[in-house]
Amino acid sequence: MKLKRFWLISSILIIIPIVYALSAINSSDSHELISEQISLEPFKKAQQHGTSIIELSDKDRKKLLSIAPKMPLAEIKEKKPNQKSIYGEVKAKVISGLDPYFEGKKPELKTAPLVESTIVTDSMTSYSDNHGKYFSLVNKNRGKVITYYSSPTITMVFENLSSFAPECKRDELKLVSCQYGDKLEYDYNINMKNNYDLYFSSETPNGVSTANIPHHIIEMQEWVKKYTKWEPFHSFAYPNFLQICGAFFDPYANLIVFSREAKGTIWHCPSSSYSTMIRHEYGHGILHSFLGWPAPPQTKNPYDYHEAIADTLSAFSLNTSCMGLNFLSPNAGCTRDIEDDYVYPVNSTQAHIRGMPLSGAFWDLRKELIKIYGEEKGSDIASTLLLNSIKFSKTGLQPEFTKDLISVDKRTYNGRHEEIIKTAFGRHGL
Ligand SMILES: [Zn+2]
Repeated sequence: MKLKRFWLISSILIIIPIVYALSAINSSDSHELISEQISLEPFKKAQQHGTSIIELSDKDRKKLLSIAPKMPLAEIKEKKPNQKSIYGEVKAKVISGLDPYFEGKKPELKTAPLVESTIVTDSMTSYSDNHGKYFSLVNKNRGKVITYYSSPTITMVFENLSSFAPECKRDELKLVSCQYGDKLEYDYNINMKNNYDLYFSSETPNGVSTANIPHHIIEMQEWVKKYTKWEPFHSFAYPNFLQICGAFFDPYANLIVFSREAKGTIWHCPSSSYSTMIRHEYGHGILHSFLGWPAPPQTKNPYDYHEAIADTLSAFSLNTSCMGLNFLSPNAGCTRDIEDDYVYPVNSTQAHIRGMPLSGAFWDLRKELIKIYGEEKGSDIASTLLLNSIKFSKTGLQPEFTKDLISVDKRTYNGRHEEIIKTAFGRHGL
């Protein structure tokens, strides 16, 4: 059988190679999966170098994106008097804490309204807002509402792998599809009521991993916009990709790929689409929106710089220094902790590790600012300095970066934090 083979793949977050059998995939599907047909070389190469930046071939990128739903653009019309409409909130089950959804250890799930979705009513399309609220005009008194996981800024790319999420729950609404491209279908009847909450109630690891993506990305977008002028870019997110224990970002398509739960005999990992991992990958996207890729010629150590900033953005936006909590096992702890003592330059084959002086310096700076100004103001100043320095600086990972950060502080805070920046960054050789 084609699927019965072994992968030798190291986790994106760690150095240790992970060997496990893909034979856990018991595919009775005749469906030939697109993800099975693409080359794993770019993924392996990225993992070897400890970076989550992948550069797929144009052909493979096209193949992956070919399974993104082709949704019409949003058409949100003004309501006219006497026009019929339905409205409500789109909700989903997501992981509320930092823990992943690991076999035998179910994290705390919450129902989150913070999901942008595409809502199709009688062939008219609208989106829910960042807070899950939707409003849709209807032609008839009775009809169907179909809701997809997708939004103006994130297109979810799904494959038909329904055998991996077999226990989709039927709740107040009918969940007609239990595959990754979860879709909700509901009959409305405005003679009865016109308020319909649409609820993605799946509690399967794959279902929750899917809902986590828009949840965390949209929260992160709001977080960035609080501190700097920025327009969210359109990205493609591929949840529940192969069992490769990792997560990746392809800068050429703004494509973010997450592996699904792996239940191998030697190693296994939960789905990688949770809290810090999602924000790390989207963090690459945020930096990419400022820096571009390939990085400008004056940018030193672009991979290391990318990993450092992706970790820092994830850490600041979630208020934790602990990256990839319990990714390797239910009690493994942090895969990386940016509360670290690394000094630039670090001699390592892993970009994630070589980047740690910079993420460590930023984390120390944030801690110092919180000591001075208190939790709220201190973390706000730290986030302002972080986002505006990466927006402005093209120097990459080298001591020159600190000068750029100091000029941002001069412009923004009259240079009030120059000394603590120098201390925090100096401690890490920057
Ligand atoms: Zn990365």
